[in-house]
Amino acid sequence: MTQTNLIGLEADALKSALLQAGVGPKAVSMRAQQLWNWLYVRGVSDFAAMTNLAKDFRAQMSEAFCAARPEIVTEQISTDGTRKWLLRGGPGVEFETVFIPEPGRGTLCVSSQVGCTLNCRFCHTGTQKLVRNLTPAEIVGQLLVARDALGDWPSTKENRRITNVVMMGMGEPLYNFDNVKSALHIISRDDGLALSKRRITLSTAGVVPMIKRAGEEIGSALAISLHAVRDEIRDVIVPLNKKYKIAELLDACRNYPGVSNARRITFEYVMLKGVNDSLADARELVRAIRGIPAKINLIPFNPWPGAPYECSDWEQIEKFAEIVNRAGYASPVRTPRGRDIMAACGQLKSESVKLRAKERLADMRSQELARMPS
Ligand code: SAH
Repeated sequence: MTQTNLIGLEADALKSALLQAGVGPKAVSMRAQQLWNWLYVRGVSDFAAMTNLAKDFRAQMSEAFCAARPEIVTEQISTDGTRKWLLRGGPGVEFETVFIPEPGRGTLCVSSQVGCTLNCRFCHTGTQKLVRNLTPAEIVGQLLVARDALGDWPSTKENRRITNVVMMGMGEPLYNFDNVKSALHIISRDDGLALSKRRITLSTAGVVPMIKRAGEEIGSALAISLHAVRDEIRDVIVPLNKKYKIAELLDACRNYPGVSNARRITFEYVMLKGVNDSLADARELVRAIRGIPAKINLIPFNPWPGAPYECSDWEQIEKFAEIVNRAGYASPVRTPRGRDIMAACGQLKSESVKLRAKERLADMRSQELARMPS
């Protein structure tokens, strides 16, 4: 019998799973709370180690359930301390997670899909077709794997290494809305993994119809991959712009639930030499976002093999930043991290390809055969 993975179940679903496994209705809330604490405050996945639970209950749990993380395929560590894990959610389903340590904080960059449908011209992930959406278990699992590797348990400890989560890995989170929403609900609960919504940033290339829902139903901080302020340019570098124009996107930002000076929207702007980096563009940028509480992250373009663009000259980036800055917006230039291990923004990509149904079936069969005793 295969065990049900408890990771990725929101609190109510966890209770239902326990009821189904025969836990009595009177005990279920308390049991669920105890398990939640072991799974997400202490990071324990072995039921036998959950010592405040009765022995026979532990045995019952390990028969019905598991607390499985995605399998680690490789771990790479950059000279600057950035770490990247290649994880595996199943045959042909590989995705990356990146930990970026900084003084006083640590950010985990989490993937939402294997591959991507958006094909942004400057993004390496965009050259990988969508394989599939990640499940809540696989999204939450990225944080669990990273905390395991960094020895970052319990989640309540002082000076924990992972203090922030950004949904800026592979994929478009708003095209996997339900799973991302569940995962972020789990991650943000303060009786568990305890990364509050203020410490979680969801980044989108601009799926306009989902932005309001994201604010209402997830409530994390919002980042927009803007990258251009003229539709003719954005249509080319972020093809999603052909569907949702800049003006509509910025309107959705103006109306983002909860946006205020204390909760600004981040605009990401990748600096592409000769494409979007003119000083006229900088002036148009500050004009276009007027009235939106915002900060602007200028991202030096990170190269990848075969990329059709170059990074703007440093001088140009500085001049661009100055115009944005003088208009009253914070405009930090994002230091590229982990470039040596292809872990920087837009460099993530796995070898996974979408298998045709027939191939997937054959693949599953061969896995089964491999498991059969000879
Ligand atoms: N699909 C979502 C989540 C991915 S976030 C989104 O687009 O927001 C990844 C960020 O890295 C995005 O802002 C993306 O535009 C940026 N990026 C992609 N390729 C890059 C590259 N080669 N150099 C620098 N930034 C890049």
